[in-house]
Amino acid sequence: MRLAIIGECMVELSNSENDLYHLGFGGDTLNTAVYYSRCGGDAEYVTALSDDILSKKMLQQWQAEGVGTQHVKIMPNTVPGLYLIENDDGGERHFHYWRTHSPARYLLDNFPRVLDELNEYDAIFLSGITLSLYSSDTRKMLCDFLQYFRGRGGLVIFDNNYRPRNWSSVSEASAAFNEIMHIADLALLSMEDEIALHGEHSMPNCLARWLKSGATEVVIKNGAEGVLAGNTTDSFKVAVPTVVKPVDTTAAGDSFNGAFLASKARGQSLAMCVRAGQYCAAQVIMHKGAIVPRDVNLIEGAA
Ligand code: AMP
Repeated sequence: MRLAIIGECMVELSNSENDLYHLGFGGDTLNTAVYYSRCGGDAEYVTALSDDILSKKMLQQWQAEGVGTQHVKIMPNTVPGLYLIENDDGGERHFHYWRTHSPARYLLDNFPRVLDELNEYDAIFLSGITLSLYSSDTRKMLCDFLQYFRGRGGLVIFDNNYRPRNWSSVSEASAAFNEIMHIADLALLSMEDEIALHGEHSMPNCLARWLKSGATEVVIKNGAEGVLAGNTTDSFKVAVPTVVKPVDTTAAGDSFNGAFLASKARGQSLAMCVRAGQYCAAQVIMHKGAIVPRDVNLIEGAA
């Protein structure tokens, strides 16, 4: 399955000690691309970067992970998005962002033909964070393209990552999520984010809503509570095989997606894809940071 993943990766400054910060890179969709690649998948990351030293380092790191960069557009004289993670005295993490004018936000406005380039792929993955990068006009252009892409047999995959601070209002976010809901084939959802956007409701309710809107496969992740998965004919719960005490839950859902999709690319059943996602996520949350060391085994039985 040739997969294109659209989104934004940012410079990450973390783990400050005496005001010395660790330099890294992160972003939900990039995390999914990295774990998809580590689990054997073949993905291209679709975004815009600057031509500065940090953007060049990002590109090198993605390539070293086996993530394709042929659709990464370069906007000279810009500054890539950046976030800083601060740990307060209680160990709680706080995120501070500098991303309002990051190049990734201008990808589709400045390089609209990138969408034509994506026509050759089997599947396109994007998230709620991806949608929040663009203006409503640009989002419409993207959604029109995705509708067309699905209509000609492409698989549209959506993760509902909802970050309220990325949206000017709840109604703007609701409108964007309602639109993509009618376009996505495969929804890889976080129950927590569904509740944050739509209010308290049950997992079966959530599943029914997405299937009714036109999704053909829906996977609802709910932390240690397990997964509810379903398609147009069947639905089933999958408990988390081994509940662990997490070290850092960053990228739990993103890594689940990467392993799930790599399993799907190998033609495995929905239940097996869920199992692969659960195994990978459980390994990732036992390590600090979004991207765990390369020697961590992410595929069950492969050690
Ligand atoms: P979440 O985004 O919080 O729903 O988490 C994504 C996935 O990470 C879940 O579907 C689980 O498979 C896995 N996960 C989350 N928390 C735990 C935990 N405490 N132990 C094992 N797996 C977990």
